[in-house]
Amino acid sequence: MSYDYKEIVPFLLNWFDYNARILPWRENPRPYYVWISEIMLQQTRVEAVKEYFYRFTKAIPDIETLAHIEDEKLMKLWEGLGYYNRARNLKKAARLVMSDYDGELPSDYKELLKLPGIGAYTAGAIASIAFGLPEAAIDGNALRIAKRIAGSLEDITKESVKKELAEDFKRVLPKDRPGDFNQALMDLGAMICLPNGRPLCEQCPVMHLCQAYHKDMVMQIPVKPPRKERRIEKRTILLMEFQDRYLIHKREPKGLLAGLWELPGIEGEWSAAKLRKGLEGKGITIASMESLGSAKHIFSHLEWHMMGYHVRIQELPMEFLHDNAYVMADGMELKSVYTLPSAFSAYTKGLW
Ligand code: SF4
Repeated sequence: MSYDYKEIVPFLLNWFDYNARILPWRENPRPYYVWISEIMLQQTRVEAVKEYFYRFTKAIPDIETLAHIEDEKLMKLWEGLGYYNRARNLKKAARLVMSDYDGELPSDYKELLKLPGIGAYTAGAIASIAFGLPEAAIDGNALRIAKRIAGSLEDITKESVKKELAEDFKRVLPKDRPGDFNQALMDLGAMICLPNGRPLCEQCPVMHLCQAYHKDMVMQIPVKPPRKERRIEKRTILLMEFQDRYLIHKREPKGLLAGLWELPGIEGEWSAAKLRKGLEGKGITIASMESLGSAKHIFSHLEWHMMGYHVRIQELPMEFLHDNAYVMADGMELKSVYTLPSAFSAYTKGLW
């Protein structure tokens, strides 16, 4: 259901003038910085992104460097942020920008949408913040705030609801400050109109216009269908040490954690005895084996419930060392060369 948001604009902008968060990519909102920050922020908290943003833009200061960066180096810079396809898409998009757009991000919403990894929200954010174009940036944050203000019980996961809100916002976006309008919503959602728990309505600049507040419905809005239960996968993870080096394995190029390095793992929860038998069956001579305990890692639709073992190896068959999917890496190489996703962090503590 369409809603007229005209009245909120001056209050929101005025609030933003005094309360905007100080963020590194805002100091110099050049398109490259806005793009990198928006991609990092897609699945990661602002506080965590700050440090990654500094590190990333120091190592890769522009689009041309990004287009030519080695994959392993790119993954290393992204290590810990998760959802590694975001980084792969950044590089793909940078190559396209170099070949088709003279090395400059296009200052056009529709052209931005053609770049890998840039969807409607990110295109709207870059277009409005970096280029001052009157484009809306609709994410869960904007939807939550807007639906609370409108007192709407519409399901915010529906595409039609997002599209309609984009049109509603486009009608009222201030022509001189579209980027500030979008950023004001981002900040209001992060600081006041919170996603979890009760929003801080008494501090909100649009409280007097908010239907959810007046009807005491702030905890009922936004409406979303119940989340699907995550699938649980049990895994046995091996920290295999041989001559002060650790065996790591490259995952398949497609699927979960595609193409990243991992500690070798086996599906299911294996007992120490079964594991010992299995490894010896592969010709591995074990010097010692100890449990590293259980750990859990949560992906968006899946949980890994893991049991780890530290296996010290006396002899490793040559085929492991000649297989390109396996590498023996020391602590320094694990720190600076190979990217091990945070799913394994419970078992890599203290290795570097
Ligand atoms: Fe959100 Fe409360 Fe402000 Fe309404 S009054 S927009 S619910 S913080």
